[in-house]
Amino acid sequence: MEALRESTFVIGSDRLAWPSGRLGPGCVVVANGRIEQVREGEGWRQWAEDRPTVVSSGIVTPGLVDTHVHGGAGCLIASEDGAEGRRAVDFHHHRGTTALFASVATAEPTRVLARLRAASELCREGLIEGIHLEALFLSQEQRGAHPVEHLRDPDPGLLEDLLEAGGGFIKMVTLAPERSGALDAIDLLVGRGVRVAIGHTAADPSVVDQAVGRGATIATHLYNAMRPIHHRVPGPIPSLLLDPQVVVELIADGVHLSPEAVRMAVRAVGESRFMLITDASAAAGLPDGTHDVGHRVVEVENGMARIVVNGMPGAVAGSTATLSLCVANAIGMGVQPEAAILAATGTPARTHGLADCGALRVGARADLVLFDDDLLVDGVMRSGVWLSRPGHTASWSADEGT
Ligand SMILES: [Zn+2]
Repeated sequence: MEALRESTFVIGSDRLAWPSGRLGPGCVVVANGRIEQVREGEGWRQWAEDRPTVVSSGIVTPGLVDTHVHGGAGCLIASEDGAEGRRAVDFHHHRGTTALFASVATAEPTRVLARLRAASELCREGLIEGIHLEALFLSQEQRGAHPVEHLRDPDPGLLEDLLEAGGGFIKMVTLAPERSGALDAIDLLVGRGVRVAIGHTAADPSVVDQAVGRGATIATHLYNAMRPIHHRVPGPIPSLLLDPQVVVELIADGVHLSPEAVRMAVRAVGESRFMLITDASAAAGLPDGTHDVGHRVVEVENGMARIVVNGMPGAVAGSTATLSLCVANAIGMGVQPEAAILAATGTPARTHGLADCGALRVGARADLVLFDDDLLVDGVMRSGVWLSRPGHTASWSADEGT
């Protein structure tokens, strides 16, 4: 038996996500915060016998990757108050989302710029993997919870300012391609290596085709905040489903999409062209009631968060979900477990060029989630450190600091 260093240990299961995305028996060897070995096949138990080993009776997956998430635990990730941002990140990390983007929503441009600067600081610290700008250049008709008075056509000068405030960490920009100047904005963003997502849009198929032709590759929360399908006036959804260059986001929180809508999309795009995202708002993890979060009042009822306008609950304001819950929900809706896991790990990592996460692969950061048989999170590791230990899943409270 070759010697293993002291900091080295083994995590194994009969249902481990292999680098191919298949679930099968196997184990990973973690050393110095990285995955040092991956062993596939029945022989892993025998091999691991004399080594320090955590054996999971459930499913072991890569750490989950959520590329569309605004906040959690009452906090915005991109809050100008850095401590608040860290609390939101901590909330998601502890629930299995070990890689995430800070999504920055529409507000006054000066506030958007300040939030981008704040989020870039979290990127520099290695707490999050990037920034998703979902602000300003969206459709008025399909604005969802975005305040209409700040929506506008893409402007190259403002776009440059936004990219600069993001400090090189903006990985994705959502825009409505039908807005004047949007196609030129796509050229500018693609030229800087930024992924362009089509969303909050009422575009017709020809505009979607043009946007994809210029380099847009993602559909932001497909179906939600998009003009719905009509058989003669199809809107953007059928084109986004059919185009092999587009990867679609789905919010499988059980609130935003019906099981049929999820199954229809998955059937249309196949296993590797959809990503599960939460679009979680700051209200994720908060109990039912009225909350003042991120300078907005939100009412949460049965897991649905709505912005409150003139005292009345209005548009749905993101989800209150965690990505692990969305994985479990998607499986409950009829998505195959391997496909659901891939859609929350390997596919977002591949789509966004995140080489260090998304797969249990030699050399990758040691990010892992252990799911129990009820698909509840039973252990989370990030960079080789247990954030919650198997069998001791921490119950997290809003009072808990980082
Ligand atoms: Zn969003």
